[in-house]
Amino acid sequence: MVTIFKGRTSLQFKFGASYIVIILAVLVLLNSYPLLVSQNLVFRSKRTAMFNSVKVIETSLSGLARLTEENVGQALGGLRETGVSRLLVTDTAGRILYDSRETGNARGLYAFYTEVAQALSGNDAFYCRYDSKAFISRSAEPLVYHNQIIGAIYAYEYDTEQAELLQSFQQNLMVISAVIGVLVILLSMLLSRLFTRQISDLLQAIRSVREGAYSRRANVRGTDEIAQIAAEFNSLTDRLQTTENARRRFVSDASHELKTPLAGIRLLTDSILQTEQMDPATVREFVTDIGQEAERLSRISEDLLRLTRLDSDAMESPGAVPVGPVLERVVRMLGMVAREKEVSLSWEADPQAVVLATEDDVHQILYNLMENAIKYSSQMGFVHTIASVEEQAVVIRVEDNGIGIPAEDMDHIFERFYRVDKTRSRQVGGTGLGLSIVRDTVVRRGGTVSVSPRAAGRGSVFTVRLPLAEGGGDA
Ligand code: ADP
Repeated sequence: MVTIFKGRTSLQFKFGASYIVIILAVLVLLNSYPLLVSQNLVFRSKRTAMFNSVKVIETSLSGLARLTEENVGQALGGLRETGVSRLLVTDTAGRILYDSRETGNARGLYAFYTEVAQALSGNDAFYCRYDSKAFISRSAEPLVYHNQIIGAIYAYEYDTEQAELLQSFQQNLMVISAVIGVLVILLSMLLSRLFTRQISDLLQAIRSVREGAYSRRANVRGTDEIAQIAAEFNSLTDRLQTTENARRRFVSDASHELKTPLAGIRLLTDSILQTEQMDPATVREFVTDIGQEAERLSRISEDLLRLTRLDSDAMESPGAVPVGPVLERVVRMLGMVAREKEVSLSWEADPQAVVLATEDDVHQILYNLMENAIKYSSQMGFVHTIASVEEQAVVIRVEDNGIGIPAEDMDHIFERFYRVDKTRSRQVGGTGLGLSIVRDTVVRRGGTVSVSPRAAGRGSVFTVRLPLAEGGGDA
């Protein structure tokens, strides 16, 4: 089947056409070369046979000083089988002295054959041709007596037997070629159709995915290269689908998160506007609430912006950042909040704990983890942070004796907008994005982050591993 697309030839057509051209070339070769070789073989055997026949005559006539019709007739009288169709003996003028043919005997006439002329001038002559019905051969040789040319022997053969053999060989070859040709063409059409069907399946799947049908997969049949491409495409689409689902969930979660404070602001402003004689203390209370909602909005949008930046490829190049000074600054910043909650903050940092990141990254990681630890701590709790060097990595541990994280939530708390207790998180001013920012920052810097329950009693331990900067760890 030939399929043409808008000026472009289909792959199937190209394959089919190239196969057919190759097959035709092979068949032409198959039909011509063996025939040519066989023809040449017959020509060669004819040459030998003709010369042998002529040699027999030459031997019979040796010893004659002059050739006459009589002495040649006498010398060749007993000759029964010459091995050729016709035999002539001429004198030096080319006059025929002996003719082996009974009917239409040419004795006395002149033999005007090129081969005879060549033989009379001293050269052996041979000519053979094949005309699809017979092999026609002519051969001539000079007859010499004491270095004198005294005549010529001419032999002629018309062989239909060998020609028939060659013809039947040719016919057989043609039949075999035709059968091979048909089989190969059928097989190549079948193969090219299979091949193009696989490709068009794949194309269809690619088009569907491009149109947004992320659940569409290509059929993977066999283990050839096309099946491998289809498998690669499927795993690519799997990832695309996962990313797309995450993106959709993120957009819907983000809009929901933004909608809640906005709805609160709307409600509070409506109440102020609709209540005619609202006392100043209540107005103040409402406006304070509006301010808090606005603050929440700005925290969410800041966190969203940070996550978007982490998603994009633009990333500040890392340098050597000692953890100690950054940790000290974060403890100072969170000191007030901790004091308010009566949570004690303590820290220790190995001076050799120098990470390969930016100061902003380290600050963000420490701030988010320690702020959470304080937020989810109970009154009179503690938060202890240690930065040390372990196996060529900087390990930061943030430990608290707060409410802890239920085992079933541990795998999810790094997801965007995931909260163990939504109400509590909102009450303490959480956006549900803090740990996602920590995870994305750590991963982008080639590190890992994990959480586990505190070994001794209630609470949790967050462990961050970051690459050690060169020069760090060996001072
Ligand atoms: P949030 O802004 O709500 O704190 P995070 O992404 O920082 O969002 O944290 C996700 C959730 O993980 C929190 O809502 C909280 O339930 C839980 N969590 C985080 N840190 C702690 C901790 N130190 N102790 C107990 N729970 C925590």
